[in-house]
Amino acid sequence: MTPEPASDNSEQSSLLNGVVDLHVHTIHSDGQLAPAELARRAFVRGYAVLGLTDHVDQSNLSSALAAALAASRALSGHIGLTLLAGVELTHVPPAQIDAMVQSARDLGAHFVVVHGESPVEPVAPGTNMAALKAGADILAHPGLLTEAEASLAAEKGVFLELSARGGHGFGNGLVANLARKYGAGLLVNSDAHAPGDLMTPDFQKTVALGAGLSLAEYGSVMTAAFKLAEKFNRTRASSL
Ligand SMILES: [Zn+2]
Ligand SMILES: [Zn+2]
Repeated sequence: MTPEPASDNSEQSSLLNGVVDLHVHTIHSDGQLAPAELARRAFVRGYAVLGLTDHVDQSNLSSALAAALAASRALSGHIGLTLLAGVELTHVPPAQIDAMVQSARDLGAHFVVVHGESPVEPVAPGTNMAALKAGADILAHPGLLTEAEASLAAEKGVFLELSARGGHGFGNGLVANLARKYGAGLLVNSDAHAPGDLMTPDFQKTVALGAGLSLAEYGSVMTAAFKLAEKFNRTRASSL
């Protein structure tokens, strides 16, 4: 049992260590828990930052994002972790991704994730490239990432995801290698759909090391993850 941090009300200190996870699902798409319960369970698991990213397409972008924003407004600052509101554009045709990234930002998303070309789902080819060109914040589980994609991720400042989710993570080693080669940012996200999918700090580290990162590289990834979360948190704060 992990002891709970002593302070439940200091956002500042909560951003200094713990898990940063910018990819989880709630009942507002296909996750099992409502945001408040997921956030509470994440806090107890050792999270500092939780980013809600329910699956969206054109039919539910505004409703799912509104739910995440409402949860973030109500809970962030009261639950011991920073709760951010994003979306995961999922199986959106590549030609429509650019406009949807913009729509999500216009609707107030703190950040935008695109569901990448996972090795275990029939995601449309061209999705990774469209997400990178659109300047999404995070390309989730990009699968058999190409050199051109890694290079563009670095150029556009799009973070590539190492996935802690079974199956989605089959490409992690390749993603880590190409991110290193081209200087692209990496994140380790859970893609949690159920409470048992949330990471402990140790498991987040295990996923990173298992992808081939050195301890020093893992430290750099976490430092960058906190910086990125702080950037998204400024977007949150400026919209209050
Ligand atoms: Zn899902
Ligand atoms: Zn997801």
